[in-house]
Amino acid sequence: MDFETIKKDAQSSFMPTYQRFEIAPVKGKGATLQDAGGREFIDFTSGIGVNSLGYSHDGWVKAVSNQAAALQHISNLYYNSAQTQLAKTLCGRSGYDAVFLANSGAEANECALKLARKYSFDNYGPGRGTVLSLQNSFHGRTLATITATGQEEYHQYFLPFPEGFRYTPANDIALLDEAMTPDVCALIIEFIQGEGGVLPLEPEFVQAAKALCDEKDVLLIADEVQTGIGRTGKFFAREHFGIKPDVLTSAKGLGNGLPIGACLCTAQLSGVLSPGTHGSTFGGNPVACAGAKVVLDYLTDDVLRDITEKGEYLKAELEKLSEVEFVRGKGLMLAAGLKNKKAKEVAAACVEKGLLVLTAKECLRFLPPLVVTYDEIDKGIKILADVLEQ
Ligand SMILES: *Cc1c(COP(=O)(O)O)cnc(C)c1O
Repeated sequence: MDFETIKKDAQSSFMPTYQRFEIAPVKGKGATLQDAGGREFIDFTSGIGVNSLGYSHDGWVKAVSNQAAALQHISNLYYNSAQTQLAKTLCGRSGYDAVFLANSGAEANECALKLARKYSFDNYGPGRGTVLSLQNSFHGRTLATITATGQEEYHQYFLPFPEGFRYTPANDIALLDEAMTPDVCALIIEFIQGEGGVLPLEPEFVQAAKALCDEKDVLLIADEVQTGIGRTGKFFAREHFGIKPDVLTSAKGLGNGLPIGACLCTAQLSGVLSPGTHGSTFGGNPVACAGAKVVLDYLTDDVLRDITEKGEYLKAELEKLSEVEFVRGKGLMLAAGLKNKKAKEVAAACVEKGLLVLTAKECLRFLPPLVVTYDEIDKGIKILADVLEQ
């Protein structure tokens, strides 16, 4: 089908929630995509941090196809080995003791919020259900997770929002201390605020937040939906900060494109969400789990080192561009601030020339597949340089 027909059908069929770029890719290999006409695109987006192994990764395709052919879904009323193997591997690799499998980042966060409130209820009774989150954060699009999202622009139209959410500025220890009143059960943070502009938290703030949470028995929830699964050069970004949050959520890069989310917790919390208190029809789908297991097995220590090195290379190449004012982030999660040009316009011009890039706030944002090659990075940078020089 030609592009104009696809676009027209899309416009007449969908709720208009998405602003789309003017292409319809049909296939890919590694970090390189193709549209129906054979036009190539270097992908620095991974479908927003999702396609860790890029396109048509052999092992992932095999695992997913075999599982789809054998058993595509069985519900959580029965045992399933694809699901159990993923859970065991994810707990082992992350250093956590129990996991709940969901279908998205927002759902993984919903699980974390419910877990925190129930832990508090079980131990302290009602009246301690407030969740603190950081200003400029992003935690998802469900009613609870947009409420947890610390950005005013998300807090319109959908009133009334759920109760029990408050915000505190990132990197301000004194204000966090003040905000930790006796009604608080949890603090949710992103180690690097992704949608907020790829802004890493300061290590001192993270350490202090962990200490305050421990002191008051407030659960620290790390939203690693974007930062996890090798994205920053560590299995989870928490390793950069040397702390272990009580609860940690994952999604995006975990499934390499199939919908899956995970909420991990420590041994102390593993029994809080008792039978009947939480669940999901699709959560832990065997096909998604079989694929996610391939992603986890791919992320060896050597590969994580390689991601760090490629990230440093991409950062250095971006810093060489005269229009680039600064580059921040870690591993293959980077943002570039521009001196004069508008990031949104640059991203649109890049697509025309064969490069997919993201934006976050006023910055260009880069989340290439973790398998991106140096050659693909060079090709992408070349296109970006051309666009910035226009
Ligand atoms: C993308 C994202 C989410 C939401 O994930 P969905 O799968 O879109 O629900 C939540 N938290 C963070 C940090 C994210 O980057």
